[in-house]
Amino acid sequence: MTKNIMLNSTTIDKFKAGLRGELIQRSDPHYEEARRLYNGMIDKRPLLIARCADVADVISAVRFARENELLTAVRGGGHNGPGLGSCNDGLVIDLSLMKGVRIDPQNRTVRAEAGCTQGGVDHAAHAFGLAVPAGIVSSTGIAGLTLGGGHGYLSRKYGLTIDNLLEADVVLADGSVVVASATEHEDLFWALRGGGGNFGVVTSFLYRAHPVSTVYGGPIFWDLKDASVVMKWYREFLAKAPLDLSPFVHLGIVPSTDPFPKGIWGKKTCGRVVCYTGPLEQVEEAVVRPIRKELPPPILDWMGPMPFQALQTLFDPLLPKGMQWYWKGDFVKELSDRAIELHVEHIGKVPTELSIAHIYPINGAVHKVGRHETAWNCRDATWSLVICGIDPNPANAPALKTWAKEYWDAIHPHNLKGAYVNYLMEEGEERIRATYGGNYDRLAAIKKKYDPTNFFRVNQNIKPA
Ligand SMILES: Cc1cc2nc3c(=O)[nH]c(=O)nc-3n(C[C@H](O)[C@H](O)[C@H](O)COP(=O)(O)OP(=O)(O)OC[C@H]3O[C@@H](n4cnc5c(N)ncnc54)[C@H](O)[C@@H]3O)c2cc1C
Repeated sequence: MTKNIMLNSTTIDKFKAGLRGELIQRSDPHYEEARRLYNGMIDKRPLLIARCADVADVISAVRFARENELLTAVRGGGHNGPGLGSCNDGLVIDLSLMKGVRIDPQNRTVRAEAGCTQGGVDHAAHAFGLAVPAGIVSSTGIAGLTLGGGHGYLSRKYGLTIDNLLEADVVLADGSVVVASATEHEDLFWALRGGGGNFGVVTSFLYRAHPVSTVYGGPIFWDLKDASVVMKWYREFLAKAPLDLSPFVHLGIVPSTDPFPKGIWGKKTCGRVVCYTGPLEQVEEAVVRPIRKELPPPILDWMGPMPFQALQTLFDPLLPKGMQWYWKGDFVKELSDRAIELHVEHIGKVPTELSIAHIYPINGAVHKVGRHETAWNCRDATWSLVICGIDPNPANAPALKTWAKEYWDAIHPHNLKGAYVNYLMEEGEERIRATYGGNYDRLAAIKKKYDPTNFFRVNQNIKPA
């Protein structure tokens, strides 16, 4: 019997009384709401959820869990595909109350607490005409995203989120607190940049920010019948496109809802979602002419100037919390003609209107960092692919899984072995090792140093060496 089953109410009450935040138990009326994750397909029932208000609460939660041998999960934004921000019958260290963001416009840095969402960071930074290179959906947690690597519209120009990480405050498995940076605990800092939540609870991040304000961006879609032409063109175009331009491939169905024009509702499409951060007077030459004039007429073209923050929230209305999600990911080096054929074939069988495949460019500045400079090993991948079966209706879960798995089975032989850790489901040690490649052994050694008992194991787990 694990010790947690014997936890008595006095022990729990004492822990609760010491927190500035709140402790949510199964008997609490808001337990059901509090345990819910972004992915409605995941149904985990933790014993306790400690909503920490500050670093002291996090220390106390780590110590409590150790003393009582509780399985412990750490939750930033709760967006993780396989639900690794929660666990069954254990303790969830929930950071969602810790949302402070401080911008230093002189030094162009952003300090964000670990409960921030992408939207929280974007909102604070945009007021100063700045942005941190990170993800593309505002409800995503900045913590899990950063620790896995983090890619989005600014990656080609400014690198991954981890390439812009300057410092992190970390509560370690023994409850002590350290700062990890290029000059303090350098080994830990190296591991945090891509190694996920394996090494401790990060309570705040310091990022380098960049001047990004009004961008030229938005979606442009073609009928799926033109997909092969559009994708082959894109493959060549990306190799020479200015780094200010980041167009990712969106394959899916036009949702049957406003604001999409009724005439194209339900149409299968191959699209681009574009972000151009260069001078607007050069947009015609860099974006408009190549995309609009060298390709067949699109069925929808909403590209235009907009605040970066608006581009970052474009997908939000379509992606509320609680839908069914099933993910499969891969790193892609080359998009061969055969791979393009397979993408088109499997998008042709897409099971629901919200299901998608996205192919994000991660070349440019991402390739300027060496594969051993951070834990993110796959610096030679040109794209990060994600296939997502998505639908509000739980009855469609089996169809989402089957489609995503069949699609991935067909396309994976054309890709690299590993995948972005934030796009993995629970796929076993081999996939994790393939993702970290030659960095795995160093990660395992650092894990042994900072977390020898594998206390932090609800994650894409790296076992202590
Ligand atoms: C709609 C959607 C859009 C997305 N778009 C992008 C994108 O554009 N770019 C991109 O790079 N990724 C994207 N992702 C993937 C995203 O990076 C992962 O889902 C990531 O896990 C989310 O982080 P989180 O904090 O919300 O996750 P959580 O579920 O809270 O946690 C995920 C993992 O990180 C660990 N963790 C979380 N916080 C901490 C912490 N403070 N200290 C230590 N460990 C911690 C957890 O233990 C867990 O293992 C997207 C996901 C979704 C659902």
